[in-house]
Amino acid sequence: MGCFDLHIHSRHSDGRFTPEELGEKCKKAGLAGAALTDHDSVDGLEAFLANDGIITIPGVELTSQYRGRELHILGYCIDWRHPALRRALAQVVAARNERAREIVERLQKAGIALEWEEVAKGNGGFVGRVHIYRALIRKGIIGEDPEKAGFNHYLGPEGLAYVPHREFPTLEMIDLVKQVGGHPVLAHPGRIHPERVHPKQLDELHDLVEELCAAGLEGIEVFYPVHTQETVAALSALARKYKLFMTGGSDYHGWENEPGPGAATVERRYIEELLTDSLPERGEKQTKERTDSCDKGDKL
Ligand SMILES: [Zn+2]
Ligand SMILES: [Zn+2]
Repeated sequence: MGCFDLHIHSRHSDGRFTPEELGEKCKKAGLAGAALTDHDSVDGLEAFLANDGIITIPGVELTSQYRGRELHILGYCIDWRHPALRRALAQVVAARNERAREIVERLQKAGIALEWEEVAKGNGGFVGRVHIYRALIRKGIIGEDPEKAGFNHYLGPEGLAYVPHREFPTLEMIDLVKQVGGHPVLAHPGRIHPERVHPKQLDELHDLVEELCAAGLEGIEVFYPVHTQETVAALSALARKYKLFMTGGSDYHGWENEPGPGAATVERRYIEELLTDSLPERGEKQTKERTDSCDKGDKL
């Protein structure tokens, strides 16, 4: 049958492992295939796609904003070398880093001895709140933090150094994925407003999905570690209604206490569209890598 984990992060965003290490872990977990979906980065894809013995699918997870809320859009089978994608990602990362710098400045103003270099060291160009958080822990400013109280105190929306996101509009991101030949998918809807995925309270999610579909959304992430059975059932119904394909993945980052690769997966039958993709509409040269990596699925 074959299961696929279509949501994994490497150290090219906020994950712990290299794309090569992730390929090995996915194989050990017995997966038929996996997609690397770093936040706003495609830098790990070349190495990830070179993993053999497993079907590898190029992906990305784009941070975006929709009516004041943060939404993540997964893009699969993208032409990851496309200049339009590279340009957009460079802008996203610049905005992200600017935000991180402002957060560090606010911490410093609050009397916390934390240098930017300490935060940014060892990161592949991507600096987010999680890196600031880890730097605060390394410096002993935040101790054991099982309930995330330390995180919230400093970095949460009510925290003393919080700076709001300045993300790109969701519809633009969906458009970008389409523009570079990919399939846009709404990530982990159960995390947007968990209570609203309850079958009786799905109205808002319906409205959202309807609007995103009109903009070109093609899939929805149904299988995800925190999605309950009830959530999966509700999202499956939503997928049927809007003719979206279903995806799934672990959102593995490699940090302690996280479920490993394969903690949530999607069966092959749901993602044939991703694996076979539609050849005729592609340009020849620019989509070669994408064709190669996605078509590997046909042969296995
Ligand atoms: Zn996400
Ligand atoms: Zn993710």
